[in-house]
Amino acid sequence: MSTIAERIERVSECIAAAAQRSGRSPETITLVAITKTHDIDVILEAYQCGLRHFGENRVQEAIPKIQAIRGKLPPDVTWHMVGYIQSRKANNVVTWFDWVHSVDRLRIAQRLSQASVAADQVLPVLLEVNLSGEATKHGYDLSGWPDNRSKASAFWGEVEAVLAQRNLLVEGLMTMPPLVEDPEEVRPIFRKMRALQQELAKRFPQVEWRHLSMGMSGDYEVAIEEGATMIRLGTALFGPRKT
Ligand SMILES: *Cc1c(COP(=O)(O)O)cnc(C)c1O
Repeated sequence: MSTIAERIERVSECIAAAAQRSGRSPETITLVAITKTHDIDVILEAYQCGLRHFGENRVQEAIPKIQAIRGKLPPDVTWHMVGYIQSRKANNVVTWFDWVHSVDRLRIAQRLSQASVAADQVLPVLLEVNLSGEATKHGYDLSGWPDNRSKASAFWGEVEAVLAQRNLLVEGLMTMPPLVEDPEEVRPIFRKMRALQQELAKRFPQVEWRHLSMGMSGDYEVAIEEGATMIRLGTALFGPRKT
C-alpha cells in the first residue's frame, strides 16, 4: 500500500504529463482533493504534501471537518462544495465554503445569492451539467446537446437568470460523467463540455467561463487532455473510501 505522499507525487506527475499533452502548464490545473468519508488527519497530511484545495459533497459531514481544519492550518486552504445542495443548506454553504461546483437549478442559485449578499461576499460558482442523461446524476439535463434544441434553449434561459443573481460569480461548468472501465469512453463528454463552454462564452460574454471542473480518479488524465482546469480526486489520492 502506498502512502498519501506517494500517491500525491504520482498523481502530480500524471497531471503534469497530461497538461503537457494538452499544451498547457500544470499550474493551470487545480487539483481539488475530495476528502469525503476521510477524517481530518488525512486532510492535514495532504496539506503537508502541498495540497491547498479540498472538496466535500455533503454539507453536514463537511462543516465539523472544515471547522477543525480552520483551527489547525493557516488560512490558505480553499474549500469546494461539489455535491448536491438542498435549498435550506445554502446559508451553511456560503458560511463554510469558498467555491461551489454544483449549481444545478435557479432556486439554489437564488438561495446562494441571498446568503452571499447577506454575508457581503462574492461566491465563485460553476454550473453543473449532465451531458450523459444518466438519471442518477444531478446537473442541468443537456443530454443530446447540441442536437436537442429545446433542452438547450431552456438551459440558456436558466443561465441568463443565474447570471442575474447578485454576488454570484459564474466561473464555468462542472460535470460528473458515468463511471466507466475505460476513460476513453467518456472523452466525448469532456469534448462536449469544451464545446458548451465556447457556446456559453459566445452567448454570455459578460462572464469568462474560464473553468471546466471535470475529471475524477478514473478519468482525470483524459479530462485534462480535453481542457479540464479543475480535477476532483478522492480515491487516487486517499485510496478507497471508508463507507
Ligand atoms: C466523490 C467525488 C469525486 C471524487 O471521486 P473519485 O472517483 O474518488 O476520485 C469527485 N467529484 C464529486 C462530485 C464527488 O462526489
